[in-house]
Amino acid sequence: MNEQLGSRPTWAKIDLRNLENNFKSAKEFLGREIQYLAVVKGDAYGHGAVECSKRLEAVGIDWLGVAIPEEGIELRTAGITKEILCLGGLWPGQENALLEMRLTPVIHQYDAAERLNKAASEKGMQIPVHIKFDTGMHRLGFDPAHAAELADRLARLPNLNIDGLMSHFAAADDVGEKQFASRQISEFERVEAVFRTKGFAPRFVDIANSPGSVAFRPVPGNMVRLGGILYGLCGDTLPAGIPAPRFQPVLSLHSRITELRKIPAGESIGYGRTFITTRPSIIAAVPIGYRDGYFRQLSNLGKALVRGSFAPVVGRVSMDWTMLDVTEIRDISLDDEIVLIGRQGNNEITAEDIAADASTISYEVTCSIDRRVKRIYI
Ligand SMILES: *Cc1c(COP(=O)(O)O)cnc(C)c1O
Repeated sequence: MNEQLGSRPTWAKIDLRNLENNFKSAKEFLGREIQYLAVVKGDAYGHGAVECSKRLEAVGIDWLGVAIPEEGIELRTAGITKEILCLGGLWPGQENALLEMRLTPVIHQYDAAERLNKAASEKGMQIPVHIKFDTGMHRLGFDPAHAAELADRLARLPNLNIDGLMSHFAAADDVGEKQFASRQISEFERVEAVFRTKGFAPRFVDIANSPGSVAFRPVPGNMVRLGGILYGLCGDTLPAGIPAPRFQPVLSLHSRITELRKIPAGESIGYGRTFITTRPSIIAAVPIGYRDGYFRQLSNLGKALVRGSFAPVVGRVSMDWTMLDVTEIRDISLDDEIVLIGRQGNNEITAEDIAADASTISYEVTCSIDRRVKRIYI
């Protein structure tokens, strides 16, 4: 393939059409009357935040969500103009950058609110902020029990515009936890009522991530924060057995056979000699390893597609190389394309499959794909 000349043939293909279609499917399913925030933190879960944000912006996303202000700055620098919410808040010293880059922070600590108010007042500016409440996740956020007192204190910070209220589900992906999620929703509604009574008029009220949006309909609040389902990662994070649109994976992971060798029976493959051939074998070396995000846990466990068939990973995955047993693949040859995630012929390996082998979730699989694996956008 010409596009691969002159570099290691290991690449992730990002199908922006699927990203767009997943957004449209979500919108059709959840309704047009709510606002949509696309979560593009962590370089859009490894898919490339700038390219994904540009496409989503072109097809009408309302908001983009990043974890840290640095990620928001990257988007602004690339020319993204939509609203950007910094989900993790801000750290001391980032106040001016937020103001200058027009980033909206989530506020989950009062001293951050004070610092930001001071910076805004020095510049003679107003800055919109979203206030986060801890309704059960117990990670970040203000205690709902003190909502009234907090509202009074925030009212004394005139350069902050309390434009949003948010919370976060702890276990929306688990139908067994539906009651807990319902309790979170009612706590959150109580907080909203307190703020409105105190004279605030937040325009955005949101608690639902991907699983929460699909599980609770009508969606609580007036905005959803979608990550996983936009990338088609839902096999292991959406609650099972509830109606949901079909979301398509956006990322696939590819490489090519660099080395093919005939190995007699009784020989070991790779570090630690963890695999011993039981027959004369053909072993392919593929230039992808754990540095690239192909987990070492997949040693002697994972599989990849070549010529439309599954070939097992044999021996340990090393930092830069993975070996496959291709003895049973017909007409195998050097440079054959390997699909590690995605479809080839009639077979498919999903990020969810890899996650199951590596005892994690699909989000971590795509997030882990290192930047040295080049992204090719369709
Ligand atoms: C990451 C994140 C989301 C998105 O979660 P998904 O399950 O990927 O939809 C939503 N809200 C917050 C606060 C997050 O940190």
